[in-house]
Amino acid sequence: MRTMMKLVTCVVLISIGFVSSWNHDNPDKDWCQIAPVCCEGRRQSPINIQTANLTLPKNFINLFFKRDYFEAGKLKGKYSNDGHSIKFTPSRWEKSRIVHLISKEKNIKARLAQFHFHWGANDSYGSEHAYDGKFFPLELHFVHLNQKYDETNDHLDHGDGAIVVGFMFKPAKENPDTCVTSAPGNAFFTSLMASIGQIGKKGDKGDEVKVDIESLFDAVPDLSTNMAHYEGSLTTPPCSEAVQWFNVMTPVEVSPFILDAIRTMTKDGRGLVLFDNYRPLQALNRRTVYDLFY
Ligand SMILES: [Zn+2]
Repeated sequence: MRTMMKLVTCVVLISIGFVSSWNHDNPDKDWCQIAPVCCEGRRQSPINIQTANLTLPKNFINLFFKRDYFEAGKLKGKYSNDGHSIKFTPSRWEKSRIVHLISKEKNIKARLAQFHFHWGANDSYGSEHAYDGKFFPLELHFVHLNQKYDETNDHLDHGDGAIVVGFMFKPAKENPDTCVTSAPGNAFFTSLMASIGQIGKKGDKGDEVKVDIESLFDAVPDLSTNMAHYEGSLTTPPCSEAVQWFNVMTPVEVSPFILDAIRTMTKDGRGLVLFDNYRPLQALNRRTVYDLFY
């Protein structure tokens, strides 16, 4: 009996260890063993968004950012390195920002839980989604959780558990005379640049900082009419098919210096420089991608 117990404990420990040690080396193969839905699911993310194939919704559908999303001042919180990405977590959940998805079938209010990034080794790739087959060097995901499931904390078990808003970034051209770049996206990254030296290793957490979210949203003209929308999944294990995706279609320019810092200054759990933390494109299957450009 004791041997049996020991065996069970070992199996459990091995499987927990395996789940926590996933990486981006070979996602399409390795992640299936962690969560079968990563390979067998029919609404996986990311996808290539073909602008010519976008569908105008028959009925009204839109994502509203509650007024204080931008106007409540800067958002307080901490950046951290979880071994897979650079992540920002707001200090006070109850003070966090709310988005509201309204359509004929859905009425979802969701609260910002965290944001994080995906990037490559150079300017030619690194984003998870692609727009008309084109990748960008950096993609940002604002992850909001449906308040309906706050009590039960089972957001990922529901198709409407999360609303993720994705932004793309591209390098701004440097002024050859001054070597200074004043790009619209730079102010948003000021707090990350202040923290990035503190989060070099997996598990590191920076000091509390204030993020200027408003400056990022201001950098995209007519944000709420500049998005594509589809139903998808988390892009990391357990690949839960719980995400209402909203992809901002206009990339924001940032200084090449900021992109370089993100590519070089953090390490993963193995002590390797952290980059290429994106999942390859997944099949669209029979999904509709909506055009919210109206
Ligand atoms: Zn992500």
